[in-house]
Amino acid sequence: TPDVTRSGQHGVRFPDRELRVVGADVTVPLNDGRRVPYANFDYAASAPCLEAVHEAITRALPYYSSVHRGAGYASQVTTAAYEKARGTVRSFLGAWRRASVVFTRNTTDAMNLLAHALPAGTTVVVFETEHHATLLPWKNVVRLPAPASPLEAVAAADRALAQAPTGPRLLVVTAASNVTGELWPLRELAETAHRNGARIAVDAAQHVPHRPLDMTALGLDYVAFSGHKLYAPFGAGVLAGRSDWLRAADPYLKGGGASASVEDRGDTTRWQAEPEARHEAGTPNVLGVIALAAACEALAATGWDSLVEHEERLLTRLRSGLARVPGVRELTLWDERHPRVGIVSFTVEGWNARDVALTLSGEYGIGVRDGKFCAHPFVRHLLASAENGEGCQDGQSTAVRASFGIGSTEEHVDRLLAALTRLTSEPR
Ligand code: PLP
Repeated sequence: TPDVTRSGQHGVRFPDRELRVVGADVTVPLNDGRRVPYANFDYAASAPCLEAVHEAITRALPYYSSVHRGAGYASQVTTAAYEKARGTVRSFLGAWRRASVVFTRNTTDAMNLLAHALPAGTTVVVFETEHHATLLPWKNVVRLPAPASPLEAVAAADRALAQAPTGPRLLVVTAASNVTGELWPLRELAETAHRNGARIAVDAAQHVPHRPLDMTALGLDYVAFSGHKLYAPFGAGVLAGRSDWLRAADPYLKGGGASASVEDRGDTTRWQAEPEARHEAGTPNVLGVIALAAACEALAATGWDSLVEHEERLLTRLRSGLARVPGVRELTLWDERHPRVGIVSFTVEGWNARDVALTLSGEYGIGVRDGKFCAHPFVRHLLASAENGEGCQDGQSTAVRASFGIGSTEEHVDRLLAALTRLTSEPR
């Protein structure tokens, strides 16, 4: 595995290649009109595009053509690239050879497709710590409160699945929280699900940009993620996993591509059997899919050890720095030493989160996100726990989130810490 030799301004450099993000050197205007280099701490919302992804799109553009329909050369090339992308995603996720890989718009779309495909009467068990994309699409749902520890998460899932009515059951969990970055115990949760005759679906939107995932080794039945959080542009996502429920379900969208034959009168339509065709009606986002697969290839080729080492270094610097800024309190569900990806949410005493975010942007050129991060129950829980603890959070209802990745540097982290130190020292 290559070692990181330097964290550059624009990406991570390895002995034999450099992973760079597009636009790492852009400058942004401050309130006073000066321009400064942008410090992007909003990777968890959408990560910048990798240069390798940009190049893959540029290579695909001359053959930009419809897939699965045309006989022309461009159509053949584009169709081959689109289908090759499925294989790339399959191996990126460590999915088994016959696993279905259905391209969707994003994680939200993938989870809604899975909800649509559940056999009638399926009981879904989900924690309230989920992003709304994974919390909301289900019909017969048992919602579990935020667990106090990873062990408690496994025990609570076990109890809920054991008590669920007979019939199909599905446990739905996040792999890495979009609020705290904490990694969930996937292997143990998968074992628990299977022991109870249930399946497990994993929201990997915040996991795959930061850590490798091996569906087969972990025993995951379904995985969903979004291209735009994985250093590719917007509009393409994935649902990968077991085929049977997807094959048995009505097409998610009805239209061309999903239909095998349509009669002149009546509603005698025969649908494609294979999930990929059945659930991808209409012209797909070909360039988005090619871009997403290029991101998978670039990350896998670089080697995870190097990426993780880069991220861990920045994460330690950021979290230990935040702990020293007066009035800043990190929101974390579990023990502070529990492993996590490059996502940190916090509050600033005496400041509402929106003002912190706007000040960081307008006065320092630093982009963070504020709010409840589409995880309202979870953020409410974290804020209430912080309020009940020693550090009173003076009625905060939202938080600030700093998230980072490949284009992030120590200088970015130091700028954020310096800005927060300055901001908290100002009289309010
Ligand atoms: N799941 C998690 C953990 C997320 O962080 C997000 C996006 O913020 C989503 C799901 C939804 O992703 P998308 O908006 O791409 O559908």
